[in-house]
Amino acid sequence: MTVEAMGRPSPFRGLMMDDVPLTINWVMRRAATIFADRPVVTRTPDGGRHRYTYRALAERAGRLAGGLAALGVGPGDRVATLAMNHYQHLEMYFAVPGMGAVLHTVNPRLHPDDLVHIMREAGDRVVVVDQRLWPVWEKIRERLPALAAVVVEDGTGPVPAGSLGYEAVLARGEPVPLADGVADDRQAAAMCYTSGTTGRPKGVVYSHRSLVLHALAEAAVDSIGLSERDTVLPVVPMFHVMAWGLPYGAALHGAGLVLPGHDLTPVGLLTLLEETRTTLTAGVPTIWLGILAELDAHPGRYDVSRLHTMLVGGAAVPPSVLAGLRDRHGLTVLHAWGMTETTPLGSVAHVPAGVDPRPGPEGDAYRLSQGRPAALVEIRARGAGGLVPWDGSTPGELEVRGPWVAAHYYGGDDDGKFTDDGWFRTGDVVTIDARGYLVIRDRAKDLVKSGGEWISSVALENALMGHPSVAEAAVIAVAHPRWQERPLAVLVGRGSDRPSDLELARFLAPQFPDWWLPDGYRWVDAIPRTATGKFLKTALREQFHDALEDRGRDRRGE
Ligand code: ADP
Repeated sequence: MTVEAMGRPSPFRGLMMDDVPLTINWVMRRAATIFADRPVVTRTPDGGRHRYTYRALAERAGRLAGGLAALGVGPGDRVATLAMNHYQHLEMYFAVPGMGAVLHTVNPRLHPDDLVHIMREAGDRVVVVDQRLWPVWEKIRERLPALAAVVVEDGTGPVPAGSLGYEAVLARGEPVPLADGVADDRQAAAMCYTSGTTGRPKGVVYSHRSLVLHALAEAAVDSIGLSERDTVLPVVPMFHVMAWGLPYGAALHGAGLVLPGHDLTPVGLLTLLEETRTTLTAGVPTIWLGILAELDAHPGRYDVSRLHTMLVGGAAVPPSVLAGLRDRHGLTVLHAWGMTETTPLGSVAHVPAGVDPRPGPEGDAYRLSQGRPAALVEIRARGAGGLVPWDGSTPGELEVRGPWVAAHYYGGDDDGKFTDDGWFRTGDVVTIDARGYLVIRDRAKDLVKSGGEWISSVALENALMGHPSVAEAAVIAVAHPRWQERPLAVLVGRGSDRPSDLELARFLAPQFPDWWLPDGYRWVDAIPRTATGKFLKTALREQFHDALEDRGRDRRGE
């Protein structure tokens, strides 16, 4: 209870030092003054480079805000983007929240019905579309007649009829100084929908305060350790969880930014990493699988010696990727866990004090875990009988809370994901050890429930990806006449050798109980990906749902 609530005036009233709104405008102002000459490099659609500085970024963001205001955008209005990683998208990142409006980054790879649903629900007024992504907009624009479209030109032709050019919008209004436009830091700055791999996309709203605190946290040495001496290349798309907050983190701490545009191929990325002397890059594991394969195929071709951290999250990093990048190419993987609902910085996997940090099984167990919660993030896990002990072995569903963890979904449907005492239920099944290290055993939806007991698909996938002939592995639950569900492994090969089912089972056997071993192995050319590059297990489950229907034999010993 406060002193005032007890009926007495507080002698400290008005004296406290915390009454300063933490807004995106502060981030912009700091970047534009203290780090004015730090670079922002973009690969342009024609394969060239666009370069400018944080000073120029702030100046153009101010003009863009003026142009958007001239289009009728006002405080609280939602402005959507259908765009990849480039400087114009970065300008939107600052201009839209900076003028008190709300930036709604939209994932262009979603199904058209989902796009219409989320843009309607969000109530977007304007959409800013990459010219190359115009066909995505074309498909849905008739169903969203109230939206004005602005096109980020790529020089391949005139802006499509019915839209305005981005540069024309920028030239149109009086520049708005993005200094003090937002008074309340609890006001919405941005929103992003979950990618819907486990249900309908749900809207997550980021406040100014949450984004600024998140950007601050990214500089902690035991989180990502962002600094002015870094050059950061976010491979993770700017339409997905604010590119993990890295654009704001880089600007706040003065790191240079490299934005790869539309070319996310291993060759394209490695070329850009080398040329820009990038020190820190970030993306989902499938990106690094491709990069590792390219580096292995051409040893010595790329000089990425400046790269000190490859931040990997969004799905578990396979041990073979961590070891391959480190042992064959001298590259350091930093594993982190997060979600759209956690902005996303949730936990980061550094080796703790007292443990030998050199490569080896002890340190690697920590590096491959999902790590410890970032400062200000709290965790707990709940099993059937309540909260589970932090013993490193009892599984439970992870719950989190913190200043950049969602409190509700936009649109009112919380889908049972928030507890009465204000924690977010992640749907991830974890164990937590005595030091607070998390290990994700599975996603609640991905668990293989065999005869009432669960099998970790993640553990099997990681082991399979350690086989020299396996490039990628996804383990899914498929219906089984006796055990309800059994694991099936879907594999993409490396090289031409395709080991038999028996060989694979023998390879896995020393690491798992017998009844965990997959009942079948299927080789495919490619594993379908989600819109953000993760394995799309729902599609695999559909494709292989009756793969074991006629199975007489099984692995449960009968
Ligand atoms: P989606 O839910 O559509 O995949 P998100 O990006 O929000 O979109 O995904 C969050 C989920 O991704 C987490 O709940 C977790 O299951 C998974 N995830 C994220 N980071 C990791 C990680 N380091 N290891 C394992 N799983 C992860």
